[in-house]
Amino acid sequence: MKFIDGHNDTVIKMKENGVNCFLRGDRSAHLDLPRAMNAGFSGGFFAIYTPDRSDFPQLEDYQTQEGYQLPLSEPCDHHYAYQYTDYMLNLLKQAERNSQGALKFVSNKEELLKYVNEDTMAGILHIEGAESIDPDFKALYDYFDKGVRSLGPVWSRPNIFGEGVPYHFPSSPDTGPGLTKKGKQLVKECNKLGIMLDLSHINERGFWDLASITNAPLVATHSNVHTLCPISRNLTDQQIDAIGESNGVIGVTYSLNMLRKDGIIDANASMTEITKHIHYIAERIGIEHVALGSDFDGTTIPKTVEDVRGVPGLMDHLQREGLTQRELKKVSMDNWLRVLEDTWKA
Ligand SMILES: [Zn+2]
Repeated sequence: MKFIDGHNDTVIKMKENGVNCFLRGDRSAHLDLPRAMNAGFSGGFFAIYTPDRSDFPQLEDYQTQEGYQLPLSEPCDHHYAYQYTDYMLNLLKQAERNSQGALKFVSNKEELLKYVNEDTMAGILHIEGAESIDPDFKALYDYFDKGVRSLGPVWSRPNIFGEGVPYHFPSSPDTGPGLTKKGKQLVKECNKLGIMLDLSHINERGFWDLASITNAPLVATHSNVHTLCPISRNLTDQQIDAIGESNGVIGVTYSLNMLRKDGIIDANASMTEITKHIHYIAERIGIEHVALGSDFDGTTIPKTVEDVRGVPGLMDHLQREGLTQRELKKVSMDNWLRVLEDTWKA
């Protein structure tokens, strides 16, 4: 069964190992072109995230009996983020050029539909955290011209647009101030261009600020259910309801730290630990509002999925748990298609 995936960080692997590894097969990555095509990966969001300049703190160093409270990441310099994003964007474009037509980055719904129906991987360029965008939005328009069609205003740190959630467990996502004046303008500019806005990583006040301004469906590309795993990164029932009411979608992530109720990071977590988040969202707001958002190559995932080759098994698991073919098609493909069509301008 073909599927669209809401989030991968595979460009990090392209940077480490070279674009050819992605094109020919890269066993050290969750995702590469041959394995993805084999598994039915017809399309997906390729995120560009500018890493912290200091090492990301190790969760184990902060783990206590009560959970963990990783410190909020430092703001990231605009010029550094701009140069870094440019470099990563070029790597993705290089992968497209050298793929001999197997990978195409799409910039409108016609291209998206065309390629997912062919044996071509439809890539969607996504920027995760808007540090590379200047307050005058020149870079935003430049990125649009280069094909970027999705943007997360914040990663898990503050920037001039708003503030992301730090990794806290257990914790509400209400961890800090909402969107700044510039952040509110950014939402309007993205609406104007038809760039999809991603609410994964934003704190709760930012979420509600964005929800009250945007004219597009609400989307969280890689977030799970807070009731089932109360990490600050997951969505409360009220946030889930708002996404449903906007005719939006939640891409359920396989990230180990976002699955279990007790917050324990268990590499042997069963597929049910992932699918229970899918069922919860489907039961609460409808099967039309839940999709896949792996976070391949951006996190650690259960061994039962292991990498992109595990997605067909996850689909089979959902089928055994009672999803019909029609429902599976919504989760794997149709919900992402609908939301992108509703968001992107013709
Ligand atoms: Zn992320």
